[in-house]
Amino acid sequence: MGDSEPLKAAIASVLDAAASELTAFGEDIFDHAEIGFREERTATRVADALRALELAPRQGLALTGVKAHLAMGRPGPTISVMGELDGLPVPDHYRAVRETGVVHACGHNAQLTHLVAVARALVETEAAKQLTGNVVFVAVPAEEYVDLEWRSEQARAGAERRSAQSKPQQLAAIQRPLPEPIHLRCYGIHK
Ligand SMILES: [Zn+2]
Repeated sequence: MGDSEPLKAAIASVLDAAASELTAFGEDIFDHAEIGFREERTATRVADALRALELAPRQGLALTGVKAHLAMGRPGPTISVMGELDGLPVPDHYRAVRETGVVHACGHNAQLTHLVAVARALVETEAAKQLTGNVVFVAVPAEEYVDLEWRSEQARAGAERRSAQSKPQQLAAIQRPLPEPIHLRCYGIHK
């Protein structure tokens, strides 16, 4: 293992330089909190931020999830950096979105900002080339246990759509390739 101090200093300097942009990103996410499985705007903001780093995020996973992969310079383990996308319905909160009453009362805005900051630090320094393995950035939909009636309706509608499929269609859906195994290292505030 070489001396990691120069790399740490480069990362600190990239993050210091990006501080106001990262803060603005988090504030924008905060000001537009969305309820679980309907975080389209939030997901697009995260995907745009990853795309600006020349990553290739996939969107629409489990409805609104986002995932992007960054390969380091040498083979090794894969870890994920995770942030949750959804807000909570707290209409009385002073920063709740007026139309929906949803707010980031759980800090998911901070998680997503950290996710983007880690991506910037790895991409905008030589870190990605010097380290080993892979980092998978995952923005996860609907962590909060709310809005259950709407979700049940969606699940029922999905079940009806599936039962209308032919047997070969159902088998093809079940047998589609599973994602590669990854070592998860969740980055959460309340987990
Ligand atoms: Zn939460």
